[in-house]
Amino acid sequence: MHRVGIEPKDIDVVFLTHFHGDHTLGLPPFVLHRIFVDKPRQLTFVGPDGVAGRLESLWEVSWGVDWKSVMLPRFKARYVDARPSGQVAGHRYETVKLDHGTTGCNGYRIHFGDVVLAYSGDTEPTAPLDRLVDGADVAIVEATGPGDVFSHMSWEAAAALRKRHPQTRFIFNHLYSGSVKGAARDLQVVEV
Ligand SMILES: [Zn+2]
Ligand SMILES: [Zn+2]
Repeated sequence: MHRVGIEPKDIDVVFLTHFHGDHTLGLPPFVLHRIFVDKPRQLTFVGPDGVAGRLESLWEVSWGVDWKSVMLPRFKARYVDARPSGQVAGHRYETVKLDHGTTGCNGYRIHFGDVVLAYSGDTEPTAPLDRLVDGADVAIVEATGPGDVFSHMSWEAAAALRKRHPQTRFIFNHLYSGSVKGAARDLQVVEV
């Protein structure tokens, strides 16, 4: 975050799409920073049902007995099970249930004034994904790799999605390897 000019303390809300490790295991260092560097400032986690239990387990795994005795008393967190639509930190959001793995994935449409940001996490390129990005100004969507990508979206399906929604600016992420034309450099900040 610091390398791209983002202050961790400025973050009020973290939206979690699902609990797979590649989408959650970056959180412990962020929480550590919040507790010992940023000091008591509330952080809200919005996620699929059971987000409180899942994240508390992750904190316990990360710090063992030190979690409850040392860190929890200094951590001001609020956990919110995502509703079909709601409001958090002054922003309206809608949740769209996407097809991914056994439990699925929450896609979010987050409103910043008149601007709508759609975020998919992980998903197969099925009808709910089109509903998620429909009319969004910016869509951050996974496009895992070329060809057959189990439970995710292929580059080919990503190109077709973009064609179906020409008014939306797409940012594709979650690539497991390789590169394509137009790819951002590592840690490049993209203006949207
Ligand atoms: Zn996943
Ligand atoms: Zn993933």
